[in-house]
Amino acid sequence: MLRDAYNRTIRDLRISVTDRCNFRCFYCLPNGEPPMARKDTILTFEEMAYIADIFVSLGIEKIRLTGGEPLLRKDIAKLAAEIAALKPRLRDLALTTNGFIFPALAGELRAAGVDRVTISLDSLNRDKFTKMTGVDGLEKVFAAIDSAKYAGFDPIKINAAVIRGHNDDEFVEFARFARAYGISMRFIEFMPLDSGHEWSRDLVVPGREIFETINAVYPLQLKNTDRGAETAWKYVFADGTPGEIGIIAPVTEMFCGACSRVRLTADGQIRTCLFSTTEHNLRDVVRSGAARGEIAQFIESAV
Ligand code: SAM
Ligand code: SF4
Repeated sequence: MLRDAYNRTIRDLRISVTDRCNFRCFYCLPNGEPPMARKDTILTFEEMAYIADIFVSLGIEKIRLTGGEPLLRKDIAKLAAEIAALKPRLRDLALTTNGFIFPALAGELRAAGVDRVTISLDSLNRDKFTKMTGVDGLEKVFAAIDSAKYAGFDPIKINAAVIRGHNDDEFVEFARFARAYGISMRFIEFMPLDSGHEWSRDLVVPGREIFETINAVYPLQLKNTDRGAETAWKYVFADGTPGEIGIIAPVTEMFCGACSRVRLTADGQIRTCLFSTTEHNLRDVVRSGAARGEIAQFIESAV
C-alpha cells in the first residue's frame, strides 16, 4: 500500500503518455508542447507497462492515460492492452482525450481493455470552441462522443474547463446536453497550470456559481455526500432524467486532504502533485538496471 507523509493512501496513477498535443487550448498549452524532449528520454511502452505493474503491486487500483493528447502516441491501444493485462489487480483503466482523433481508435481502445473515457469539450458553440482550443474541431468532438457510445464505453464523462468570459454563459446549455445524451458533464475551475501564464483569479468561475446557475433551471441532487478521494461533487437531476453534473473546484474548494493520486510523466518522472515543482527521476532508476524491489522502494520513498 502506498501511503504518503500526510497519511493519504495513494491508489490512483495518471500516466502522461506524451507531452505533445494537436490542440492549443489557451488555458493549457497555448504555444504547443514544451520544446521536444530528446526521444530517448521518453519512456517506451515496455517501460511504462513495467512501471505500471510495479505501481499496481504497490496498491494502485486505477490508472488513467492522459497527456498532452494521449492518442498522438503511436499504437496507444497496444500500451492500453499491456496495462489492461494487469487486471483484476488493476480495477480500472481510463483515458482522457480531446476527442479529435478518437473516432478512429474507439473500438480498438475498448477492445484493448480501456474501461472508461473522458472527452474534453469546452463549448457547444463552434466559434467559442475554436477560440478556446485553437482548432475548429467541435464536430469531431461530437463524433468522438458518438463513437464512445457506440464502442460501449460507460459511463462517458465530458470535461469542460470553465473560463470567465469564454464559456461561463453555457452551463445550462451543457446541462441540457448532459440530459439529452445521458452523460456525465463535468466542469473544472481554471487552475494556474497554463504554460502561457494567462491565469488570474478573475478568470476563475467558482464551482458554487456553476452549481447555482444549473440548479435554478434543472434542480440537482447531490449524489456523493461522502466524496472520498473523488475530485468532483456529483449531482443527478432531481426530476430523474438520466445524466449527471460534476463540479471540480480545486481553486475555491481545495480537496488536497483526500487526494489519492500520483503522476508519471512521459519522460519517466514521478510527480506527487499536479502543482508540484519537484520531480523524482524514476526513468533513470529503471534504466540503471535496478531490481524490481529497488524500483518499488524508490516509488515508495518519492510518495
Ligand atoms: N489532451 C487531453 C484532453 O484535453 O482531454 C488530456 C490532457 S488535458 C491536460 C486533461 C484535462 O485537463 C482536460 O479536460 C483539460 O480541459 C484540463 N485542463 C488543462 N489545463 C487546465 C487548466 N489550466 N485548468 C483546468 N483544467 C485544465
Ligand atoms: Fe491539449 Fe488537452 Fe491541453 Fe487542450 S487541454 S492543449 S487538448 S493537452
